[in-house]
Amino acid sequence: MSPHSALDAPETILKGIAASPGISLGPVYLFQKHVPTINEKSVEPSEVEGEIERLRQAVARSHKELGKIYEFAKQKLGDHQAKIFEAQLMILEDFVLFDSINERLRGERKNVEFILHDEIEKYRKVMEAATDEYTRERALDVEDLRNRILRNLQEEKLISRLEGSPVIVSHNLAAADALILSRNVVLAYVTEIGGVTSHTALLARALKIPAVVGLRHITSTVQNGTQVLVDGYSGTVVISPTDETKGKFEEKRSRYRSFEEKLAGLRDLPAQTPDGHRVELKANIELAEELEFIKIQGADGIGLYRSESLLIGREVFPSEEEQVREYRLLADAMFPKPVVIRTFDIGGDKMMAHAVRENNPFLGWRGIRVMLDRPELFLEQLRAILRASTRKNVSLMFPMISSIKEVRKARQFVQEAKGQLRAKGIAYDDKIKMGIMIEVPAAAVITDDLAEEVDFLSIGTNDLIQYLIAVDRGNDIVSDLYQEFHPAVIRFLRRIIERGKKKGVPVSMCGEMAGDPLATILLLGLGLDEFSVVPNILPEIKKIIRSVKFREAKKITKKALNLQTEDEIKNYLRSVTREHFPDIPTGE
Ligand code: PEP
Ligand code: MG
Repeated sequence: MSPHSALDAPETILKGIAASPGISLGPVYLFQKHVPTINEKSVEPSEVEGEIERLRQAVARSHKELGKIYEFAKQKLGDHQAKIFEAQLMILEDFVLFDSINERLRGERKNVEFILHDEIEKYRKVMEAATDEYTRERALDVEDLRNRILRNLQEEKLISRLEGSPVIVSHNLAAADALILSRNVVLAYVTEIGGVTSHTALLARALKIPAVVGLRHITSTVQNGTQVLVDGYSGTVVISPTDETKGKFEEKRSRYRSFEEKLAGLRDLPAQTPDGHRVELKANIELAEELEFIKIQGADGIGLYRSESLLIGREVFPSEEEQVREYRLLADAMFPKPVVIRTFDIGGDKMMAHAVRENNPFLGWRGIRVMLDRPELFLEQLRAILRASTRKNVSLMFPMISSIKEVRKARQFVQEAKGQLRAKGIAYDDKIKMGIMIEVPAAAVITDDLAEEVDFLSIGTNDLIQYLIAVDRGNDIVSDLYQEFHPAVIRFLRRIIERGKKKGVPVSMCGEMAGDPLATILLLGLGLDEFSVVPNILPEIKKIIRSVKFREAKKITKKALNLQTEDEIKNYLRSVTREHFPDIPTGE
């Protein structure tokens, strides 16, 4: 007998973008949104007031619907996430918009559907043409609002009840749809478009429903009722899975579930060892859309905001005003917790507005080197960061520092930027803290001197390791030689941390190593003051910190520092980690 049911085709594995964690198996419900067709019609002068009244009623009904959705969103998602719907309600309450629609109705004597569609389309197009993904995503909300009013004009009902518990498969999902559908038992969301910042992704995470997005052509590959397995951890969707595949995923699901249950309770607890040694556990972020998630994960602040992510997909640098808006968003959302904004780290592997050809870009014009050579750009960014610092929870950080001279020059620019703002009477935090990344071996060697010039140090292991061992981690031929636990790496880390602390300057780590569970005990034992990690891993790292005594971590670290090969170090750390935490994946 074939392992597949009669309804389904053979097993097919598709790869999309992991948008919300979890694993589900269930039948597909193809969600197709009702898109109203709009015909342009003339109306008699005597009918105009009737059209206006029809619009008023449709707007009132839409307002009532959205008001309910907003309340439901507040209950389920909290005030911050619910703001998406508040924004839609504000458009519905926009007198200017509706006055101009009514005026056109009277002047042009066309049917209300046509004029409403046309007016709202203007809004939507402006948003859709925006250069940033966030605003483009919001264009979908405006479209959704328009369709809601149109549906109510045509007096059609809202689909909100589903049979059974399906996996919702759709081309795209508006925020309101994802939320309304979640009143049923939804097993997972799968969409063709959207990225990790799409509404489906944000809402699915908040609702704790697994989701995979960006899976092109899925709606034409499956039918209503097709069995699909959705793995929101890896972004995999399996159509018509075999029993063997189902078993494999079931095993993964129970493993992850029991682990996550244990982690959830840690959110509001400090990253502190049982013998009272407290460290800061912060998050690295690239997009403002991750803010809500990092708060849920219980971060003590933002330890690295990679500001160059503002440059993704654009030709020109963002204006000072645009930067201020972005940085303020971070500072306000995290307040009173701290936010470290790193100045543009461009060049090397990172995007440049105008690409420069270099034979060896990693040893070339990148990070602070670019900014020091582009005073206008640098001053603009510094002014924007300073302007966002008025609540006193923002710090500045410079990437790719290799000498004292660069730090002094960068600080001079900060002074100059402050002077420019002062001259215009613009407020900023005069005591803003300034730190540098230690990611070039030369900087590591002169840590003592650098520490005299700055308020904090942050170790960037991603670059530091590749420069220290002379291995390009992106080069497949030698990537085996890229060793996070190379004895030279861990001894170098000891040196940086010890020297920084001796000078009374806190030492943080924001490279990937800070978020490697296998490294946590070692880094604790080395005396690292602050870990800044990718948001996903944060609870796991907190769990380790809260379970191992500082005294013991120091002993373990001392032993690891005496080992001679990466294999020995890793095996040793694996055995101690496994002994303390049998359920933590240690990368085997
Ligand atoms: C690093 O190099 O470790 C770091 C955090 O910076 P990035 O990964 O952005 O280069
Ligand atoms: Mg780096």
